[in-house]
Amino acid sequence: MNRPKILIIYTGGTIGMIQDKNGVLQPFNFENLLSYIPMLKDFPAEISSYSFETPIDSSDADPDFWVEIVEVIEKNYDHYDGFVVLHGSDTMAYTASALSFMLENVNKPIILTGSQLPIGLLRTDGRENMISAIELASMQRDGKPVIHEVCVYFESRLYRGNRTTKYSAENFDAFRSPNYPWLAQAGIDVKVEEDKLWTSKNAPLVTHKKLCRDIAVLKYFPGIQPKTIEAIINIEGLRGLIVESYGSGNLTTNDKIIKLFEEAIDKGITILNITQCTVGSVVHGKYATSLKLMNCGVVSGKDMTIEAAITKMMFLLGMDCPKDKMKQLLMQSICGEIS
Ligand code: ASP
Repeated sequence: MNRPKILIIYTGGTIGMIQDKNGVLQPFNFENLLSYIPMLKDFPAEISSYSFETPIDSSDADPDFWVEIVEVIEKNYDHYDGFVVLHGSDTMAYTASALSFMLENVNKPIILTGSQLPIGLLRTDGRENMISAIELASMQRDGKPVIHEVCVYFESRLYRGNRTTKYSAENFDAFRSPNYPWLAQAGIDVKVEEDKLWTSKNAPLVTHKKLCRDIAVLKYFPGIQPKTIEAIINIEGLRGLIVESYGSGNLTTNDKIIKLFEEAIDKGITILNITQCTVGSVVHGKYATSLKLMNCGVVSGKDMTIEAAITKMMFLLGMDCPKDKMKQLLMQSICGEIS
């Protein structure tokens, strides 16, 4: 039987960092990383690795960095059965969400993982995360990968990437997928929830590399000044605004503020409503405090995470699709980001 071919792409993050003389964690060269897990050479998969020339702390991630990851995957797509992307945990949920939109029709596992402690430390969580991610990426049935989507693997669980959010800055169990169940759990056995997996179209991979950065996020809070909202919607070249609302998408009935949103929409800015709650969904019209928003043309982001909402907006604005199509696509699931 042929061993699945897996490419590990090291982009940076704590997993591959060492402390400099001042005790500050800095990314270092990946060649050393594999030497910390020598048993990988006996793994029932053919493992190759690729390291970014300049690995980064993921807090420096941006759309150009996502394009770089997409290009490495695209170049190697036909030669490998699965990809494990080693990435810092801070913005892993953003990268996973972005990749899910940028890699259309993906029919192989793209699993992002990393760690809270560097792999060189005795108590590292990086070793288990990396080994289980490789095991999941290698899973095949009838010679075909079992997983065909962008995922995050962290502390025993595999999640749909565009459903994740970083939840803890101190626990190994750092991620949550608040509105979608996990896809697999690694205990004594690795148990995959097959009915939860994304079913890919049998179509060639299409990559999207144009992302629009002319967007902003407005976190609403009691007492926000209309002039703050006005300043944001008057940012030169702004094309998309994500408003983080309360509860099930509620904001205000204050006509002065609703008028500002109306003016922004008239100027061509797309406004998307995402709840500040971690669990649950925007339901326009449930309360009077969301009805006015809906009536003035604000789009419901339903139960998308903020990470999925930001990257989806960048992606759709980058495609320059017509306004109505854009609104429709924002409200419907493209690759499993909405229930
Ligand atoms: N600051 C690091 C990063 O996101 C944290 C981590 O790797 O978990 O790159």
